[in-house]
Amino acid sequence: MSQEMSPEMKKESPRMKILFLAAEAVPFAKVGGLADVAGALPKTLRSLGHDVRLMIPRYGTIRSDQFHFEKIGTPYPIPVGPGEELIHLVGTTLEGGEELPVYLIWNDLYFSSRDQVYGFEDDAQRFTVFGRAALAALPMLGWQPDVIHANDWHTGIVPAWLNTDGQCDPFYRSIATLFTIHNLAYQGVTGRLILTFARMDYLNHLPVEQPGTVNWMAQGIAHADLINTVSPTYAQEILQPDMGMGLAPLLQERQDRLSGVLNGLDYDRWNPATDPHIPHPFSVNTLDRRSANKIALQQQARLPVHSDVPLIGMVTRLDHIKGVDLLPALADWLFQREVQLIVLGSGEPRYHRMLEELQASYPGRMRVFLKFDDPLARRIYAGADIFLMPSVVEPCGLGQMIAMRYGCVPVVRAVGGLADTVSDNAALRGRGTGFVFSEFSPEACQEALERALDTYTQEPDAWRGLQLRGMRADFSWTASAQEYIQLYRQAIERHNS
Ligand code: ADP
Repeated sequence: MSQEMSPEMKKESPRMKILFLAAEAVPFAKVGGLADVAGALPKTLRSLGHDVRLMIPRYGTIRSDQFHFEKIGTPYPIPVGPGEELIHLVGTTLEGGEELPVYLIWNDLYFSSRDQVYGFEDDAQRFTVFGRAALAALPMLGWQPDVIHANDWHTGIVPAWLNTDGQCDPFYRSIATLFTIHNLAYQGVTGRLILTFARMDYLNHLPVEQPGTVNWMAQGIAHADLINTVSPTYAQEILQPDMGMGLAPLLQERQDRLSGVLNGLDYDRWNPATDPHIPHPFSVNTLDRRSANKIALQQQARLPVHSDVPLIGMVTRLDHIKGVDLLPALADWLFQREVQLIVLGSGEPRYHRMLEELQASYPGRMRVFLKFDDPLARRIYAGADIFLMPSVVEPCGLGQMIAMRYGCVPVVRAVGGLADTVSDNAALRGRGTGFVFSEFSPEACQEALERALDTYTQEPDAWRGLQLRGMRADFSWTASAQEYIQLYRQAIERHNS
């Protein structure tokens, strides 16, 4: 994968104007992986020479005293509901190689008075306002993007409007769209009255939509010039009825426009040599220092301090799709061996109870932390030997990439982005980066864990090789950003053909 654009590539690649639209973006507002992508990809695209700009809603939690906002133009009305809603546009910039312009859609009723990103009864109206306000901001800015990169259901209205009403307006007619599916589990399904609110009563009902409803994810997929997911394997998986969350027929119909681009990792934020939260920073050249982090982690977890006992770590949302249901069935077998397990997670109460019970059954062997704790997560990546990620579904997955960057060898199920980022050590005859299993069962997971534990205890040189290959793997955004540039070009070509 190429890292830098050659002079020829730059010549062939005129600067594109790209509007990146998302409901959340680091460092302004973060709920999940979408915020990481929106915080990193536009910056990388900018450093590759493109005029990319980010637009997000201004939630109440995004405080004016933390960011320097400037008012842009005068407040403008957008047609929603029975009347109009007044929008204030404010701007700021994000530091990077080159400064990234960021626009925030400021409206008290729908965004600034809300202290969360999602979870309100009127989310469908809120993101209708966001989409309409984003589109209406462009003529005011005097900036006509070549392509709008819309993300997840919250922005599904944008390709839908551009492909219908927008075609009658010379300002919008030539704008191409790329629609990225970060997680098909959330689709923004709502009653068809939303179309009256959006002034889009004419929008066609799609066969995948339930009668009387609008599915904004489906509308985004149906109207975008191109569609992608956050890993190549997930792009294939969602075509299957059992993983398409009801949208497989639509995705199959648009399969020739669908691809997968792996998310990158923000290498500035995830670097074991500079991470301020790990007690003993290290790199590929100073890997021996890593064991001091393991000891510190065992102490923090109040587990017996043994540098030779394999330590398995998990950092995860506690949700069915993360595969945590396998743990009780594995525990008896696992703890017959000399092994320690640390789980950091938060989520569904039933999993909190399950993990507390397991911890009580295996004192001194297992420690659970039921919370969201970024510094502790980093100490687990830096101190554990094995990172377990047995997901049922995984659109991309960051945990396994962070683990590899921190010298923690992953044991994963071959699903979605896990299949695309971790290579099995046996399949690659000792040149892999982890241990991979296919079937979602305790037996299959046990087999992979057993291979990992045996390698750790019996073959220290092979283990070191696994660690170093993982640490050297390139998960930076640069490679993925190049793929997005290709997708933008194809979207523009498709749009104009
Ligand atoms: P998902 O987006 O499905 O939760 P990913 O693997 O893509 O899964 O991303 C998870 C991110 O959230 C990683 O950066 C991981 O370190 C972090 N994370 C998950 N759970 C916790 C937790 N309990 N405490 C701290 N960080 C967490």
